[in-house]
Amino acid sequence: MSAQIGKLCSSCGKLSVEYVEFKCPGCLQETIVRDMSCREKHTRYKCSKCGTEGP
Ligand SMILES: [Zn+2]
Ligand SMILES: [Zn+2]
Repeated sequence: MSAQIGKLCSSCGKLSVEYVEFKCPGCLQETIVRDMSCREKHTRYKCSKCGTEGP
């Protein structure tokens, strides 16, 4: 029931099972999630807390 099947990509919003997570470089609080395709394409992400955007 509570099995972790993936996370929502912060760039494209899709559910992904292969992803990387890192803390937002702006606020160091929000966790940014990026799936592999967005990582390869360097799709921009945006922090939902402080609005920091980055590649
Ligand atoms: Zn994505
Ligand atoms: Zn932030």
